[in-house]
Amino acid sequence: MANRQSPDRDASVIIVGSGYAAAAAVIHLAHSGFSTSKILIIGPGQLGAGQAYGCEADAFRLNVRADLQRLWPDQPDHFPQWAETHIHDPKAKTHAGNFYRRADFARYVSTQISVVPDIKNLRQISGKVIDAQPIKEGWRVSCDDGAHYHSARLVLATGNPEPEWPIETQLEDTPALVRAPWRGEWLTGIDPASRVCLVGSGLTAMDALYGLACQKHQGPVSLLSPHGILPPAQVAWHPGNPCEWPTTARASHFFNFARRALKDGSWEEPDWQQRFSALREGISKAWQNLPVADRLKLQRRVGWLWSLARFRASPQAVAAAQKMSESGQLTIVRDRLKHLFRTPEHWQVGLMAGELLSADVVINCTGVGRDALIHNLMASGQLVPVGYSKSPWVSHDLRVIAPDGCPHSNLFCIGPATALALGDVVGAISIARQALRLSRSLREDTSTAQATATPNR
Ligand SMILES: Cc1cc2nc3c(=O)[nH]c(=O)nc-3n(C[C@H](O)[C@H](O)[C@H](O)COP(=O)(O)OP(=O)(O)OC[C@H]3O[C@@H](n4cnc5c(N)ncnc54)[C@H](O)[C@@H]3O)c2cc1C
Repeated sequence: MANRQSPDRDASVIIVGSGYAAAAAVIHLAHSGFSTSKILIIGPGQLGAGQAYGCEADAFRLNVRADLQRLWPDQPDHFPQWAETHIHDPKAKTHAGNFYRRADFARYVSTQISVVPDIKNLRQISGKVIDAQPIKEGWRVSCDDGAHYHSARLVLATGNPEPEWPIETQLEDTPALVRAPWRGEWLTGIDPASRVCLVGSGLTAMDALYGLACQKHQGPVSLLSPHGILPPAQVAWHPGNPCEWPTTARASHFFNFARRALKDGSWEEPDWQQRFSALREGISKAWQNLPVADRLKLQRRVGWLWSLARFRASPQAVAAAQKMSESGQLTIVRDRLKHLFRTPEHWQVGLMAGELLSADVVINCTGVGRDALIHNLMASGQLVPVGYSKSPWVSHDLRVIAPDGCPHSNLFCIGPATALALGDVVGAISIARQALRLSRSLREDTSTAQATATPNR
């Protein structure tokens, strides 16, 4: 069965990944007239849920308000209107807008897929792609169960890699040692009196804090944060026009421009968040004009700060963290994890500064992982990294760049993996824009292929 070729195993387009990016691609392709029968999705779980929205915990909420969570870039009301009739969630409402449960957003995406014309012809295989090789007619992909599939074009939409511990360790996952917390199933197994240690201080840690608060957790919580700060709260800012970045080849000019544009002020003021969002919206072209060394320099020096300002947390999560901190239940430890070991009673969490913390439960909230497929494609020379990074080079029209510097004609990439090449592509709205652009590229490709095929008939 493994090497057999059959019509069932051939597709015009294979999309690797089954998260939001894959769902957005299917929806925009179908709406641009591309037949879903020509698409094969390879990836686990419900299409559209993925790592980001495939969670079980009610406490895990979207980190942007409803009108910014867009599948249709030009329709800010689409999700809010759907939510009004399909979501009953009094806790979603805040002074900064409605922040719904992530699982409800997955339901919304699933509904949008179900109404795509011709959707019953879409095929999905619940496998994991481990490799892909170019063949004469396109691509041959290999899955971890030994099966192979073929397509004329291949789209990598592998998203956020499964989190890994930030230290070398052979420790196995247990209810007291949570390596991958995004689904949130671990929350229900926690003893309310236990001492919890959260490793990392971004949005995953904010989810964990809010989850613990919703469960009325009583035990002390320590949180390791390299810079000693938590993400700011989303406030009621309004989207403006994208900022016009200058074309510059210097990281320092780039940084100074952003600093001037943001001016002084608190990052929890609506004006500041609006200015920051305008910078994000306009960054892509100027970012692509920066030399790779300067991009990497910026990422190394201020990437963490950009991420903090970008990944603002829901007001619900920020309020929970504040309450825990004020009551003395939450301690923020300005340090990083060095090592982790088990005694008969508890976990010992070793810090870089030499201190040891004791905890009953340790949760990995770093969000860092490695995309095995992208790694394999780089190792076999199909993709080239941006500088010394693990991210692939991708062109503005989402074609993956081959080692000879030219874009592949039939290999595309969308979603978080393109962030370093294209600048700040992680949130739902940027991915929806990419999906729209991808649908145009693939449609243009199909019409060119048909046009060149016609004279030979
Ligand atoms: C926990 C979390 C919460 C987030 N919350 C928000 C939010 O509230 N708002 C917002 O705008 N953005 C949010 N984001 C950002 C998020 O990256 C995007 O919004 C978007 O969901 C990414 O979609 P994706 O399909 O690219 O990735 P993912 O959601 O990571 O999905 C990728 C899917 O592809 C599968 N896959 C990966 N590799 C392979 C392979 N080799 N073979 C087969 N299948 C594979 C994975 O199993 C997964 O199902 C969040 C991200 C995370 C991680």
